Amino acid sequence: MARRKKIYEGKAKILYEGPEPGTLVQYFKDDATAFNAQKKDVIEGKGVLNNRLSEYFMTGLNSIGVPTHFIKRLNMREQLIRSVEIIPLEVVVRNVAAGSISKRLGIPEGTALPRPIVEFYYKDDKLGDPLVAEEHIIAFGWASQPDLDDIVSLALRVNDFLSGVMTGVGIKLVDFKIEIGRIWENDFQRLIVADEISPDSCRLWDMKTGEHLDKDVFRRDLGNLADAYTEVARRLGVLPTNVTHATKPTLIN
Ligand code: UDP
Repeated sequence: MARRKKIYEGKAKILYEGPEPGTLVQYFKDDATAFNAQKKDVIEGKGVLNNRLSEYFMTGLNSIGVPTHFIKRLNMREQLIRSVEIIPLEVVVRNVAAGSISKRLGIPEGTALPRPIVEFYYKDDKLGDPLVAEEHIIAFGWASQPDLDDIVSLALRVNDFLSGVMTGVGIKLVDFKIEIGRIWENDFQRLIVADEISPDSCRLWDMKTGEHLDKDVFRRDLGNLADAYTEVARRLGVLPTNVTHATKPTLIN
């Protein structure tokens, strides 16, 4: 059997050539990294959970008219997606201060922000993904002003949707990161939500207890990451039937 072609391998996912032109297969690994890959581990079951959760969020976005790369889930770890040209920006939306904004501006973690704040980071591991201004993005040609207007509007729609969904299950959406892709339809380009939306790329706090249900559990050694993601999936009703930490095969009648 011919081996399928690997297009790209990142820290948490692999992209393979898709079955049709304009498609790719996105494979979710169990690898977890933080601090620009200085901290690494393998978290059994994480890839399966993120595949399901990203499907859940992207499908919901598609259904309210926010375009995303998601086409369909293929199996426990893989989904079929549209191939896009990734804009080299991490688009972060914040509702509550945490992480880098707290450090940079001295705002205590947990402070509600007066309005959602959209930030851009230039995707470059060698530089440590630096925060950039719209001026840099336009001057260096990473995106145009009309693209940026679309990106901000997409980011805020994603924020409204995700905040609502998470509030419904007792979770506060503190912040999240998305990536945006360009697709061409005849002579027109369209911007769509790409990459993934999962607890790897969001900060999610339990509304009652303040418990972290996101990658900070790994970054800050707060407990078991797979358990935190499983809790998010359970509350959303998207728990896959087969994620267990079974160490030995079990007999199925
Ligand atoms: N984030 C991400 N990938 C990155 C950097 C940040 O998914 O490379 C997410 C992160 O999980 C959080 C949000 O973006 O939900 C804001 O992250 P922040 O700027 O506070 O950086 P951090 O404290 O994670 O270094």
